Amino acid sequence: MSGQVYLDYAATTFTAPEVVSAMAPYFTQSFGNPSSIYSFSEENRRAIAESRQKVADVIGASRDEIYFTSGGTEADNWALKGVAWRNRAKGNHVITTKIEHHAVLYAAKFLQENGFEVTFLDVDPEGRVRPEDVARALTDRTILVSVMFANNEIGTIQPVAKIGALCRERGVPFHTDAVQAVAHVPIDVKAMNIDLLSMSAHKFYGPKGVGALYVRKGIRIENLIHGGGQERGRRATTENVAGIVGLGAAIELTSSRMKESSARIAALRDILIDGVMKNIPYAKFNGAPSGERLPNNANFSFIGIEGETLLLDLDREGVYASTGSACSSGSLDPSHVLMAIGLTHEQAHGSLRMTLGEETTEEHVRHVLEVLPRIVKRRREMSPLWEDFLKSIEGGR
Ligand code: PLP
Repeated sequence: MSGQVYLDYAATTFTAPEVVSAMAPYFTQSFGNPSSIYSFSEENRRAIAESRQKVADVIGASRDEIYFTSGGTEADNWALKGVAWRNRAKGNHVITTKIEHHAVLYAAKFLQENGFEVTFLDVDPEGRVRPEDVARALTDRTILVSVMFANNEIGTIQPVAKIGALCRERGVPFHTDAVQAVAHVPIDVKAMNIDLLSMSAHKFYGPKGVGALYVRKGIRIENLIHGGGQERGRRATTENVAGIVGLGAAIELTSSRMKESSARIAALRDILIDGVMKNIPYAKFNGAPSGERLPNNANFSFIGIEGETLLLDLDREGVYASTGSACSSGSLDPSHVLMAIGLTHEQAHGSLRMTLGEETTEEHVRHVLEVLPRIVKRRREMSPLWEDFLKSIEGGR
């Protein structure tokens, strides 16, 4: 097979051509500052309002509950720091989980270093947060619960509605980082009792550098970015008009094809998973089974192999994927998510994440199934870790 096989859609997606077209006029024609009162800027204000409505419609919110941000990271930081700070007179306890994205995890650690008490909940071996653990952790001083909608590494979808219901019962604001889920799985913030929700356009075929935070009416939250009066006085800085238009166009496009797309992509993902598990000895499948994971996520561990080496070998075959051992992000630590589901360091270091998307074809999947077993076999033959592993299982017989 020639060409590239991009299997890293969870890292980012391309911007859909329709989305680029929708954005284009806001760079060159309608470039006015939305805060200016002259009629030239009217079109920009209208476009921002329309985008806000599109975002609200997809998650079952109302337009005035949506605030645009610079991406998922800012939305997460705003939710955690903003709610904690604003409600500090009520209590100082925050609950989150060990498998959150660093945008939540490090914001929570920042709170911890600044006088808040944070509970980091464990997950089960398939990466699920247990609602009963959330219930047990809630105290009279809890002012926020933050549990991600779906995990970016292993794809496990959390029992968000159950967690939302028990937070609502106790009157505790519930935030969910839905960066990997929005426009890919159905979300209804009202039915699921979600009070705050983060999203990011570049995960659903929109541009990078723009996202949104949903804040339910009545939720008390402090501003994160101080300055001008944009976003109804809640988030300063001149609006990223083209980006906001792109976010609106992308969420509309991606959610309108969600049903067919996720069925097609999930079927390809299952071919990939079956093929890997059948053709690679001692492969470990990470995360929850089909119904409880993102339609596009497959995650494996191959004992005896370094994830980075695997990525380089795959790159040579035109396949772009990702690993959970975080060398790729500049550290040698194994993924906190894979450690939290109970993997050993060796298993975490030998992990491979493949995430499928709109341009993934069966031919792409077949190509991976042809090259991956060969690469794994060759690398294992050179690996002292693999030799040790074989000896250990022989010894166990
Ligand atoms: N949260 C999750 C679950 C993510 O997967 C990501 C991006 O990988 C983020 C937050 C951060 O989003 P952004 O890149 O828009 O800052």
